[in-house]
Amino acid sequence: MNRDHPMAGTVPITLFEAASMPHYATHQPACDSFGRRIDYLRISLTDRCNMRCVYCMPVVGMQFAPRPELLTNAELLRVVQAAATAGFRKLRLTGGEPTLRQDLVELIRAMKALPGIEHIAMTSNALRLRHQAHQLKAAGLDRVNISIDSLDPLKFRQISYGANLDDVWAGIEAANAAGLHPIKLNAVIVRGLNDDEVVALASLTTRYPWELRFIEVMPLSGVANLAEDGVVSTSELIAHIEAHFGPLQLEEHHAADPARCYRIPGAPGKLGFISAVTDPFCDTCNRMRLTADGRLHLCLLRDNEVDLRAALRNGASQAKLEQIIRHAVYLKPWGHGLPEGVLPTLRGMSELGG
Ligand code: SAM
Ligand code: SF4
Repeated sequence: MNRDHPMAGTVPITLFEAASMPHYATHQPACDSFGRRIDYLRISLTDRCNMRCVYCMPVVGMQFAPRPELLTNAELLRVVQAAATAGFRKLRLTGGEPTLRQDLVELIRAMKALPGIEHIAMTSNALRLRHQAHQLKAAGLDRVNISIDSLDPLKFRQISYGANLDDVWAGIEAANAAGLHPIKLNAVIVRGLNDDEVVALASLTTRYPWELRFIEVMPLSGVANLAEDGVVSTSELIAHIEAHFGPLQLEEHHAADPARCYRIPGAPGKLGFISAVTDPFCDTCNRMRLTADGRLHLCLLRDNEVDLRAALRNGASQAKLEQIIRHAVYLKPWGHGLPEGVLPTLRGMSELGG
């Protein structure tokens, strides 16, 4: 969190007043005030990372949450249990780098055993997956998204501030061998940095049955300047790829999927495009985020939050936690305000998990 920001810790974090909270019916899944059913919780397990991707974490000036501020495994399980009773069915573990979390295997096993939790995915940089993938799969992890922004070892090292591309590739292969399917690869394209690799990244789908997702760079705290000049729009990406491979085939679209998917004709894999900046998908948003320090973050690109940690540490019952989660869902904003120039200021992507 940007603790120096004048608004940090006060507005726009929603000051949660339990006494004035309405009572929500418990027999139906949580819906926001716009009627969207919210059933997907993305959980940041840590704000720390073993990489420093240029579009995510500034190399200097990062402030990490002190360990006592992070939710413990027991607190996380209480939140997930309450979310499940509110109708959440899918979890994604993210960060920071989720594989840095101690006892990740046990945590996944315990989360998967909670009634109502049907699917657990994880987003990872894969540096540690080579040794973890099989255990994670056995514990109940269903699939992974792996970030890979360059296929050139030197460029990769530059983007990630020193990571080794071979280690990432070994992690991808381990995830594949462990059956964490379908494998999805995330690539954030930044103008002048890796926009010359779009065709090389796209051509992975002609060799592997994976989905390569191109993500428009977003102006989170700490990287807003980079995002301002660096966004390569989905339409530009598609034009670039089609100039090389010919017309792409449009794939069926699933309502809750933020990616629009295409296929290079004859390719075993797919291309996905996540256009949060140039073509937002807020109308079908089905997700909430839990920060590592225990806040429900209501929209990725806004600062509104509800403090669950305070409730957890002040003795809230499971029924109370469920009510707070339902209230947070109800308070979810319609969508982000980038077109009006409203930028998120409090947190970086490494705290929010993407
Ligand atoms: N460390 C893991 C990883 O990199 O996959 C999980 C956390 S990372 C914050 C989750 C996703 O957010 C990654 O795919 C990353 O590329 C993406 N991301 C980070 N900063 C971004 C930004 N400014 N705009 C768009 N996507 C971003
Ligand atoms: Fe770490 Fe992921 Fe952010 Fe890269 S994108 S710095 S791997 S949290």
